Amino acid sequence: MRFHIITIFPEIFDSYIHESILGRAIKNKLVEMKFYNPRDFVKVPKNKNQNNYKPVDDRPYGGGPGMVMRAEPILSAVAKAMTDKKVKKGKVKIIIFSPSGKKFDTAYAKKSAQKYTDIVLISGRYEGIDARVQKILRAEEISIGDYVLTGGELPAMVLIDSISRQIPGVLGKFESLEEERVSSSEVYTRPEILKYPFGKAQGKNYKVPKVLLSGNHKLIENWKKSKGNL
Ligand code: SAH
Repeated sequence: MRFHIITIFPEIFDSYIHESILGRAIKNKLVEMKFYNPRDFVKVPKNKNQNNYKPVDDRPYGGGPGMVMRAEPILSAVAKAMTDKKVKKGKVKIIIFSPSGKKFDTAYAKKSAQKYTDIVLISGRYEGIDARVQKILRAEEISIGDYVLTGGELPAMVLIDSISRQIPGVLGKFESLEEERVSSSEVYTRPEILKYPFGKAQGKNYKVPKVLLSGNHKLIENWKKSKGNL
């Protein structure tokens, strides 16, 4: 899977994507990430003394607060991503982030991991992106939840993380075997009895649910199901 990330802040991704499971997936070439900064696609005037430098953002038509990301640098960045020879028609998805888009979930992540070889992720900033970008590219608007963030970089990382772990091999043999079994949102590890060392609850024992120690796989599975999992 190749992720083509359109962002004016590519550095934001640096540490997160190179740690742990994602870092390993990149090293093993199961996942690739390519960055395209709209700033690099802003036309620089031939005569630099002329003051016609165009930034990546501009004031909104119709008034209102804040700035809007201009269409051209983003469209140029996406066009550059599409020149990658590996990108095949029908196997590429273009996503644009918006708090009012379709809500992202695990089902969407699974489907995307199966259907596409390339995903273009367009991260907005400020008051958002000139709406013509979405129209021209027929990009799908995706939201990661009902709250407004300052930019689309965290949403892009959320999608990258969640989609990557659906790609065969990314979780590793052991982890993916675990994944196929019923996994639970309530998990425990050693010690079996945790003695809380601080404050009012000092000395109190917190035990692992008995069923998990029972060795009865059917009971354990039912318990896990009752705790909910995705
Ligand atoms: N004025 C816009 C908000 C812009 S937030 C509005 O009311 O819709 C700036 C950028 O952050 C957006 O363009 C989008 O790329 C990103 N963003 C903010 N919250 C998001 C969310 N919940 N999900 C996905 N992207 C989000």
